[in-house]
Amino acid sequence: NQIILLKNRPDGKPQLSDFEFTKEEKPQPQDGEVLLKSKYVSVDPYLRGRMRDVASYIDPFELNEPLQSNIIAEVVTSNNSNFNEGDFVNGMLKWKEFQVSDGKGLNKVDGDKASLSAYLGILGLTGLTAHISLDKIADLKKGETLLVSGASGAVGSTVGQIGKIKGCRVVGIAGSDEKLTLMKDKFGFDEGINYKTTKNMNEAVAKACPNGVDVYYDNVGGEILDAAMNNINKNGRVINCGAISLYNETGPQTGPRYEGIFVKKTVLMQGFLVRDHVKEFGPATQQLLEWLNDGKLTYSETIVDGFENIPQAFLDLFEGKNKGKMVVQIY
Ligand code: NDP
Repeated sequence: NQIILLKNRPDGKPQLSDFEFTKEEKPQPQDGEVLLKSKYVSVDPYLRGRMRDVASYIDPFELNEPLQSNIIAEVVTSNNSNFNEGDFVNGMLKWKEFQVSDGKGLNKVDGDKASLSAYLGILGLTGLTAHISLDKIADLKKGETLLVSGASGAVGSTVGQIGKIKGCRVVGIAGSDEKLTLMKDKFGFDEGINYKTTKNMNEAVAKACPNGVDVYYDNVGGEILDAAMNNINKNGRVINCGAISLYNETGPQTGPRYEGIFVKKTVLMQGFLVRDHVKEFGPATQQLLEWLNDGKLTYSETIVDGFENIPQAFLDLFEGKNKGKMVVQIY
């Protein structure tokens, strides 16, 4: 039974050498337990934060212990009356091929309603993040301009599509021309900016958003956030969902320097954590499913094969190698 441990706390950009593969005997489920086989493993930018030894909204990973993320697993043996062999479940599980669980925190998923991997993305935490955060903070109005960064990723691509459902003009920022094409052709964005080939982001945002930015959905932080703030409209809303451009920074970070803009433009900026909204997951999932079934919402996934490729898939998030949700499939 293969396991992936955190070997070192990364210094700056994580490396493959920060992870260690090891083996153990396949575990045996006791009374009340199930034996799970991992099938789809989610790799997510926030895991980088858990590799630091600092207190946060979620505990740091321990050194020389297995990493964890959301995993879709198959119940291969059940000694727990709530689960049958052949059930598929979603839970915060360890990076192990096989593991036992007492069933706490496991949610059954229905592979007939949607593909199993979709429960890690569009019907999982990234889809829920997009939908609930917009619902709580953005107050999107028809005809407004919604600017989103990380726009071809799992959260960003969903945010942009919900913006279109709400009748907004949607502009996305991403790291390749191929991603801009995907955003426009598949996700219905109106305009795209390639931040890697753009010299002046302030000007590029101004050009792509001639009526200014009413809502900025921030997945990346840093200079792109600055460019968005420089183009924000009166009564603009800014959702701080993530700041991936800063996750591997080692130096001290400066805070927002937008005091003038906040006051003059009476801007609302609010952080969001999807884990604070568990009570809303049920209705939000229903809404996402409805939009999917009505053809109003779609999604992309980058599916990497093989348990041994989980660390590399995680590292690739920071290189923008994914389009939509990054998932590792295990046979
Ligand atoms: P994505 O699917 O968006 O994957 C990450 C993407 O980030 C990459 O594809 C890459 O695309 C982009 N990226 C990587 N490095 C940089 C950089 N230096 N500058 C700009 N863009 C970069 O991941 P998720 O959708 O899972 O997550 C998106 C954001 O949302 C993250 O910040 C994450 O932490 C946050 N998040 C927050 C949650 C919450 O509750 N607050 C819940 C879930 C996610 P490109 O090619 O465009 O560079």
